[in-house]
Amino acid sequence: MRILIVDDSSTMRRIIGNVVQQLGVKKGDFDEAADGVEAWKILETNGQYDVILTDWNMPNMNGLELVKKIRAGGAHQKTPIVMITTEGGKSEVITALKAGVNNYIVKPFSADILKEKLDGLVKG
Ligand SMILES: [Mg+2]
Repeated sequence: MRILIVDDSSTMRRIIGNVVQQLGVKKGDFDEAADGVEAWKILETNGQYDVILTDWNMPNMNGLELVKKIRAGGAHQKTPIVMITTEGGKSEVITALKAGVNNYIVKPFSADILKEKLDGLVKG
């Protein structure tokens, strides 16, 4: 399982990375990006991912802009995306779902929640 973790907080990327490792994802099987611009570059060069985990609030290109860009077309158009964010309001959730995210997690979250959402999206 290959995962792309997108968050401008290195601490949050580390936390998410630890959880996906608990799920059995090897260290070499997930990559990290600090914003949407970096994520898009990685997507264009590193091939397919099984799931993209992205923050919303980030500089340069935020998570919502990244989701829209991915869903607009190209090689990753169908790749499952989970938004992990502090933006937990009903209208934000609806906005994200409309943009094409497959699932939504509000920070702070437990490892179990992330596991549950990932299990629902990818197998093995
Ligand atoms: Mg952020």
